[in-house]
Amino acid sequence: MMASQQNSSQISEEQIKLLERLSNACAVSGDEGEVRKIVLNEVKPHADEVKVDALGNVLVTKHGSGEHLLRVMLAAHMDEVGLMLTHDDGDGIYRFDVVGSLSANDLAGKAVWIGREHIPGVIGLKPLHLGHGDDRKKPIDIEELHVDVGPARGKEKVGDRATFATTFMQLGPSVRGKALDNRLGVATLIELVKHAPPNIDLQAAFTVQEEIGSRGARVAAFAFNPDLAIILDSTPAYDLPAWDADENVRYNTRLGAGPAIYVSDAGTLSDPRLIRYLIQTAEADKIPYQLRQPGGGGTDAAVIHRQREGIPSVSVSVPGRYHHSPASIARISDWQHTLTLLADALSHLTPDVLAAER
Ligand SMILES: [Zn+2]
Repeated sequence: MMASQQNSSQISEEQIKLLERLSNACAVSGDEGEVRKIVLNEVKPHADEVKVDALGNVLVTKHGSGEHLLRVMLAAHMDEVGLMLTHDDGDGIYRFDVVGSLSANDLAGKAVWIGREHIPGVIGLKPLHLGHGDDRKKPIDIEELHVDVGPARGKEKVGDRATFATTFMQLGPSVRGKALDNRLGVATLIELVKHAPPNIDLQAAFTVQEEIGSRGARVAAFAFNPDLAIILDSTPAYDLPAWDADENVRYNTRLGAGPAIYVSDAGTLSDPRLIRYLIQTAEADKIPYQLRQPGGGGTDAAVIHRQREGIPSVSVSVPGRYHHSPASIARISDWQHTLTLLADALSHLTPDVLAAER
């Protein structure tokens, strides 16, 4: 039996505060500086090497003790979906492009923070009162929307990113915030760097530009050239009680059921040895877990597993509801169990895992 290191540990007040700072920070793809700064501050005292690469990834190495240790890459993306101001129409009105996948339905009427100074604004739409006939039934076209900072104070400019102006809160056993996809993964990875076990060389990549096609992870995996990779993300839970009465075949993960281990998604077939190893670890240490339902979506694993000569990869997510919208909800217990599963799995990892049959 494997001994559990953190099985009884709870998410601390300090860890919630860190998640709060990460969730409230603005880091739309390509402008991840605010999250990068928090990450650097947290990991520097605990790392052997810290580097910011050409694209803005934070690459952290923590060596184990001994020779011929497994090089284990852990990746968590720092960026979030959002907007980019593209044209100044005057009077505080800006046209914008969407960065990453966001639906127009989630945009109209929402408060936003713009640029590095979090300038408040709103996403405007033609008032319903002025609509004609079937206008009210028409789906919203992103082209009809604009950002209004009412009026300009000269601090915002074309090229600035904007995010939903949602302040983080703890709601009983849950947390609510924007960008919990993937600040939950970032917070988890910070913790794993702080408590890196001695049996592996830990290579932590806090990646950029995942939401627009995992551009940062591609170069991070090349640089690290690891033996295997575990990708930490947050995946949508579609587990509403309306479908709970019967067998729910529509959820892909559920809140409260523990970390979601990926078997496959739109971009990756996870390495079967790593899936098996994570399940064995969870079962031996009595950590709840769930298998994410196959289907759409993807993580940085999509590019990492195809790097160099192929890198065995698996993704593990904290499930969350309403990702890529103004506010997500996740359970603190799922975060805690994800952290425990990964800490336990890493601390017992040996080259045997990859020598096993597929
Ligand atoms: Zn994500």
